Amino acid sequence: MNAKESYETLDPENWDEMRALAHRMVDDAITYLQTVRERPVWQPIPEQIAAHFEEPAPREPGGADAAYQEFSETILPYPMGNIHPRFWGWYMGAGTVFGALADFMAAIMNPNLGGGNHAANLVEDQVIQWIKEMIGFPKDSSGLLVGGGSMANFVGIAVARNIKAGFDVRELGMQSSSQKLTVYASTEVHSSNQKAVELLGLGNANFRKIPVKDDYTINLELLQQSIIADREAGCRPICIIGSAGTTNTGAIDDLNALADLCAREDLWFHVDGAIGAVALLAENVKPKLVGIERADSVGLDLHKWMHIPFEAGCVIVRSEKSHRGTFSLTPEYLAHETRGLASGRIWFSDYGLELTRQFRALKVWMSIKEHGLDRFGRMIARNVEQAHYFGQLVEKEPKMELTAPIGMDIVCFRFNPGGLNDEKLNTLNKEILMRLHEQGIAVPSYTTLNNKYCLRIAIANHRSTQEDFDLLAKEVVRIGDEITQ
Ligand SMILES: *Cc1c(COP(=O)(O)O)cnc(C)c1O
Repeated sequence: MNAKESYETLDPENWDEMRALAHRMVDDAITYLQTVRERPVWQPIPEQIAAHFEEPAPREPGGADAAYQEFSETILPYPMGNIHPRFWGWYMGAGTVFGALADFMAAIMNPNLGGGNHAANLVEDQVIQWIKEMIGFPKDSSGLLVGGGSMANFVGIAVARNIKAGFDVRELGMQSSSQKLTVYASTEVHSSNQKAVELLGLGNANFRKIPVKDDYTINLELLQQSIIADREAGCRPICIIGSAGTTNTGAIDDLNALADLCAREDLWFHVDGAIGAVALLAENVKPKLVGIERADSVGLDLHKWMHIPFEAGCVIVRSEKSHRGTFSLTPEYLAHETRGLASGRIWFSDYGLELTRQFRALKVWMSIKEHGLDRFGRMIARNVEQAHYFGQLVEKEPKMELTAPIGMDIVCFRFNPGGLNDEKLNTLNKEILMRLHEQGIAVPSYTTLNNKYCLRIAIANHRSTQEDFDLLAKEVVRIGDEITQ
């Protein structure tokens, strides 16, 4: 062996073998996605497989081939299921083939998107420009790709707090606040916003959850009254969070009215658009989102209804100065130069909590280039049509009923053969859900509305067809009958 061959690094000892393995992995991956419909949506993990994940870390090399073999046998066959055409649980995305390949290339280049003068930063900047345009924000607003809607909301609400607090929060901290700062949203607001309020030191006790109307959108009169009452009590209202698509029912708050209210009351207007903001691309949703372009900040998800492989969220802030003022901190080792690698117009670490940042922009950029925004819009619009199609199936079936208005692509319903009280129906529908999962038929999730346990489908899935919804309707009745007879 010559000196070169024996020099230990983390590169392959044999590049040809690694190349062969890589080709096999790509082949397996494409087949896996091409045949996804033929497999159950979900299956339980057998105990002897789960036991693999309790073994200690190996001290010695096991080799890439063996690791891949183990992955193929113990991990790949037990997916969450969200890439399957009949997965409609929680609120997911289905991923794309090319998006996954783009993510692979991003890891190959492995740049750090904290800052600097390299092409990856330009890619993220361009993706953010595209998103600003999509939501109708000005060119000079700022943005950041983040892990998801949770972090996007956190960033937006952090800027809101620092700008509206009335004192220097960065220097003095929340402990020096002479007034209670209050934040407002509906009772249906996503939990990530509460986490942000808590972590920002505002306290959940100062997060006003305003009741919703029958359509699950925020009650504007009660909101206005709450703000007045808080001011009278000596609090300092700072921010309203509007929901552009709630998780339970897909309800979209009246964003224009919230923008008016924020303007009148001098409050920050943040929109949680994790579900709905990308539906601006769909003609059958767009009119309902009017007003989002008036927000001070918008959090949105690209990994949900745009199917970019996890993780990909984004926050846009209208005032670049406010955004930078909340997060930028530049010690000497991060100095932004005018020449060389440490130059570059944008340092994304100035806009968020994280310094080292992955190249998640590439999968977004390559996916939008591959498909064009209009195709994403068509996929979204079709999911909305499918929600209404399934809603009709439910209404036509005497043993099923809708339990909430259909919001965008979210349908809440239950099996109700008649003659059973809510308590019995709750148990019955829960059992139906378990059997749908366990039999690998479909993955809805559930929610509880007015004490009724509901099956819930959120159709963020570009692979679902009409037949998939026919099957779900048929199987719910079959299983429901099976249990009750
Ligand atoms: C999913 C979701 C979030 C959180 O987004 P993540 O990407 O899961 O972090 C926030 N708000 C709403 C309305 C959501 O549906």
